[in-house]
Amino acid sequence: MNNSDVIVVGAGPAGLMLAAELRLAGVRPLVLERQPTPRHTQKAHGLSGQILHLLRYRGILDRFEAATTDPVPPPRFPYGGVHLDLTRLVDPPLGALPLRQHRLEQLLAERAVELGAEIRRGHEVVRLSQDEDVVTAEVRGPDGTYEVTARYLVGCDGGRSRIREMAGIPFPGTTYPEVNRIAEVRVHESVTVLENGDLEAPGLRVRAGYTRTDRGVFAVGSLTPGVLMMQTTEEDPSEVDNDEPMPLEEMRESIRRVLGADLPLGEVTRLSRYQFQARQAERYRDGRVLLAGDAAHLLPATGVALNAGMLDSVNLAWKLAAEVQGRAPDGLLDTYHAERHYAGARALLQTQAQVALRRGQDAAGEALRAVFQELLADEQPARRLGALVAGADLRYPTGDGHPLTGTFAPDLVLHTDQGTTSVAELLHAARPVLLDLAGRDDLREIAGGWADRVDVRTAKADDRPADALLIRPDGHLAWVGGEPESLRDALTTWFGEVSG
Ligand SMILES: Cc1cc2nc3c(=O)[nH]c(=O)nc-3n(C[C@H](O)[C@H](O)[C@H](O)COP(=O)(O)OP(=O)(O)OC[C@H]3O[C@@H](n4cnc5c(N)ncnc54)[C@H](O)[C@@H]3O)c2cc1C
Repeated sequence: MNNSDVIVVGAGPAGLMLAAELRLAGVRPLVLERQPTPRHTQKAHGLSGQILHLLRYRGILDRFEAATTDPVPPPRFPYGGVHLDLTRLVDPPLGALPLRQHRLEQLLAERAVELGAEIRRGHEVVRLSQDEDVVTAEVRGPDGTYEVTARYLVGCDGGRSRIREMAGIPFPGTTYPEVNRIAEVRVHESVTVLENGDLEAPGLRVRAGYTRTDRGVFAVGSLTPGVLMMQTTEEDPSEVDNDEPMPLEEMRESIRRVLGADLPLGEVTRLSRYQFQARQAERYRDGRVLLAGDAAHLLPATGVALNAGMLDSVNLAWKLAAEVQGRAPDGLLDTYHAERHYAGARALLQTQAQVALRRGQDAAGEALRAVFQELLADEQPARRLGALVAGADLRYPTGDGHPLTGTFAPDLVLHTDQGTTSVAELLHAARPVLLDLAGRDDLREIAGGWADRVDVRTAKADDRPADALLIRPDGHLAWVGGEPESLRDALTTWFGEVSG
């Protein structure tokens, strides 16, 4: 088959998530991945932020939890050289699930295939053209070059996206000069880990957390007993090729430069190197070509990129499906750029603030971190920053209306005639839902006009935020309230004209 509804370029987390979501919405994605086999590169260490709630709303979070081999850490996060400690908060806005990226990709691929997506590995998109009706990709596969045609193509092809380049979409921003090197090692026999996490080695004592020296920063911590995670950050003028694996000797030398002494390393279980960039595609859409994940944004901090990228895919899938199925209202697909470019800008805001917080090595830099750390001792700023990092505070710019419109739907406990359920359960099928919480026949009757596209549910909730909620497939609220005409408008705006 050389045509499909949507071509997804790249089988990384963004592409695989998109493929699964497109299948849920009833369209046929074809995923083209240039690597012949799933990769085992050592990239992300886990998932954090709002994507964990989204996976729960899809009913699949338990698969990811079951696959993790590391203990789930308490909600305590590095934030640009200070610590964001949410352990004292009831219901912290930011959480994390340790899961190696190759395992995450394996689970996402299994899910996409189980839902009926086709993934072709060893197939590289080398050229692209589009007209009013279709987009055509030239693909170099194991048996030669061929063309594939679809209604839309999404570049989920990573930070160096060829799709972005071929679509002529600028990617402005900054590459920071610091080189970060990570090693995960077993504790060497000559090293003692003290109760407070400090390390003692022959002729050397290293504090748990961050050690700043004239040459850079050394950070060390441990999630698993007997195993240390360490990172060096240096402004390193030597040319490094981030696509080349990092040899152990390079890590040793970097530690020696930063600490001014050798730190004995036990068996190494992970080595990687990266540089931070802060970049965002000027447009997430060019006609029939769209961008998601690292192809759309690169964020200069750890632990946030997967959240941003996979949520791009969730936002995009149902809108693309509506276009492919010919029922999308005018402008629906353009809301992908409006919403996710906005989300990307928020993520850049908080990650670039982290750059400023961690870079200053002088007394002023120390003072900035000390003041920030003091502020984070209070619940309100800690909660607020946690929500910003997670993307939990995101309110899509959907226009005026109820203050909850555009936000992620709260996971209300719902009491129905059939028993107790929840908002999360209603979204397993990724279909829009009008949730009537006040027995409003008039609202249900209006939504009945969209019954082929929008499910209608009645329930009682203990803390009802409004008479009714119109929930989009991505979990965000399209409308909140009780006013019938505004509900009709919202249904038309998001889901098209009334059927028949
Ligand atoms: C050392 C390191 C640690 C990290 N740690 C974290 C972390 O803890 N948490 C976190 O959230 N993020 C982390 N990240 C970032 C995270 O790995 C990326 O954000 C994520 O991989 C981006 O996913 P993606 O699907 O957008 O792109 P990618 O994962 O880059 O996938 C793109 C895919 O497209 C394929 N491709 C490219 N061009 C073509 C083409 N022309 N045709 C077909 N296929 C193509 C590539 O082979 C690749 O498989 C880390 C990154 C690094 C390097």
